Amino acid sequence: MKRVGVIGGGQLAWMMGDAAKKLGVKLVVQTPSSDDPAVAIAQDAVFAKVDDAISTGILAQKTDVITFENEFVNLDSLSVVENQGVCFRPRLAALTPLLDKYNQRCYLKDLGLPVPRFFAVEQPENLQSQIEDLGFPVVLKSRRHGYDGQGTFIIQDLADLQQKLNLHITNNDISQSQFLIEEFVPFERELAIIAARSVEGEVVTYPVVETQQEEQVCRRVIAPADITPNQAAEIEAIAHTLLNSLQVVGVFGIELFLTAAGKILVNEIAPRTHNSGHFSLDACETSQFEQHLRVVCGLPLGNPALHSASAVMVNLLGYEISKSDYQNQRQKLAEIPQAFVHWYGKTESRPGRKLGHVTVLVDHQNRDVISTIAQTIESIWYPTRKFPY
Ligand code: ADP
Repeated sequence: MKRVGVIGGGQLAWMMGDAAKKLGVKLVVQTPSSDDPAVAIAQDAVFAKVDDAISTGILAQKTDVITFENEFVNLDSLSVVENQGVCFRPRLAALTPLLDKYNQRCYLKDLGLPVPRFFAVEQPENLQSQIEDLGFPVVLKSRRHGYDGQGTFIIQDLADLQQKLNLHITNNDISQSQFLIEEFVPFERELAIIAARSVEGEVVTYPVVETQQEEQVCRRVIAPADITPNQAAEIEAIAHTLLNSLQVVGVFGIELFLTAAGKILVNEIAPRTHNSGHFSLDACETSQFEQHLRVVCGLPLGNPALHSASAVMVNLLGYEISKSDYQNQRQKLAEIPQAFVHWYGKTESRPGRKLGHVTVLVDHQNRDVISTIAQTIESIWYPTRKFPY
């Protein structure tokens, strides 16, 4: 029996529950509240924020290895724990270049991987000329702690940019160097790939998927993406280069843009399991969550292949403040043929909050039919008013 400590107790840790049972792994989570989803499936918990390294030291005493479902940790204080001999998978050095979006872009660029043009907001006096090189619109991003589009702003002109920066500086008392600016990529589609690398250095990748965002938040994922074999090979090669370069032991989600001209650019790396891989729970031989536990425990990698022709995953996002558990809607969703409803058990719903997801397995790859299934799910889940309001 292996004991795995997980930093974070949200839905990503919650979805490790079944795989942990199957593999005989004991899970202990570090998470702030006893209401957090993964507390229900964990054998034990350390109740603390994810960036509380002293509590991670306590987590280490209860476990053999520590991994992450949330990367918003404090690497400096965590490295003290690692230096005491605690095993982190991925090790902290593999996370160091990734946690700040500017550093991450630099790392990818230095590796020769294709990324949008970008620069760090450092000297306000140079801002105008740097932006002129890119041309509006541009994308302003918080360098740290961005998720689900929080901290990502599409900026149309200089006045808009100055207003956003001033707003952030005065509201949050943070300096301009905490932002990066990059070219707006007029992508045709967004894609993603989940990749896992084992202790032995073997890498496997899941099928490339299409992700559909609205207001910068993932709404739907279609597996596999409708792309050429060359494009799929290019994306798999990006995943191999990145994971091997970082020598990472873990599971990563890689988000990409596909332009109308067929060019692929890397948008973002998540150093953990990812929303774009949730379909794998029901649609693949080995889910990304089982794969994560396998690599962390030093077990052989599982087969990531799809066992249906395709699958569509739809996020169930909150659209109101409520304590409802939405039994009625969940029941209707479960009646869709080949549907698997996953409900994270969060105690409160808020607009945009990820409350659950539905995956439907499909025995063909007809895009129109797949879109209709996604629409059916959303019409059951969302009230008649369109979200986001
Ligand atoms: P987060 O870390 O909050 O998920 P991302 O950087 O992934 O932020 O951005 C969220 C979404 O915003 C992306 O999925 C995409 O739809 C849009 N976006 C981000 N960067 C760009 C860009 N450079 N050009 C066009 N759209 C972008």
